Amino acid sequence: MVNEEGAEAAQHAGAVGRRHLLLVGFIVLLAWLVFGAKAQAAKPLSVVTTTSMIADAVREIGAEEVTVKALMGPGIDPHSYRQTRSDIAAMTRADLVLSNGLYLEAQMEEFLHRLARRQPVVAVGEVLPVDRLLGHDDYDDKFDPHLWMSPAEWSEVVGAVRDALIELRPEKEADFRERTDSYLDKIGEVQRYAERITATIPEDNRVLLTAHDAFSYFGRAFGLEVIGIQGISTESEAGLRRIRDLVDLVHERGIPAVFVESTVPEHNVRALVEGAKARGHELRVGGMLFSDAMGPDGTYEGTYIGMIDHNATLIARGLGGEAPAGGMQGLLDEGGS
Ligand code: ZN
Repeated sequence: MVNEEGAEAAQHAGAVGRRHLLLVGFIVLLAWLVFGAKAQAAKPLSVVTTTSMIADAVREIGAEEVTVKALMGPGIDPHSYRQTRSDIAAMTRADLVLSNGLYLEAQMEEFLHRLARRQPVVAVGEVLPVDRLLGHDDYDDKFDPHLWMSPAEWSEVVGAVRDALIELRPEKEADFRERTDSYLDKIGEVQRYAERITATIPEDNRVLLTAHDAFSYFGRAFGLEVIGIQGISTESEAGLRRIRDLVDLVHERGIPAVFVESTVPEHNVRALVEGAKARGHELRVGGMLFSDAMGPDGTYEGTYIGMIDHNATLIARGLGGEAPAGGMQGLLDEGGS
């Protein structure tokens, strides 16, 4: 009797307890749905990139869904760049780290490999099939990493950036795809502009002589022979002998201009100009190209489209082709097409 009553009371208490638990659980679920999901949606993905060209793609595709930080600003040489303490802090806190890969970030590669074991790290330049890559002068087993110089190749890399963002935030896939498509349209536009103006460079002048070998993809895309005073990675200093050989070449072929690069010191270019002058050949400096980093933040040249526009316009004009002084942007501002 006593036992039965006790059992009944315990049963009753148990039922009340369960009902309480259910209620509490329901409130917690409701609170999560209302506040948790909202907080999650409001927090942008934090993305850290090595180069500014990759950051440009993240910004265009991610828009308000992302915050992006490029470790290598204007004028920074990625071949010799090593991560700082604050870079490491930024990368370990980030939701996603994007690098170019293909040994562009030679001094950071080991760190990036280690980081990839703990969190999402994607080498977006490594998405291209090997048959679209150019070889590396200094290493038999490596490829030329300067993919951004060809809008067609870079478009594939932009696709890899989009996919990496979708992977982390699948609910925004439609938005990411839409913005990628309109960004790729703009990249196609600057490609067609560059094709049009570089086609006007006279046949004999179709040699692009620059401070280091960053422009091989550009040369392949637009039909120019490319010669770098330094090799692909800026590691090897151009020796006196190399300069002498180049002076001979410039003289023999009547090359009209050499170009300075934003991420490489000018002294080799100066030595070449002086050497040519001593041989009675006037080699002009065709201006400064943005090679391994974009222009200053907040400027047109500080965007990928602006960088390609600037380079193509300067190269075409420097080598005797016809291009508007204000580039593609100048044409658009005038209301033309
Ligand atoms: Zn380079």
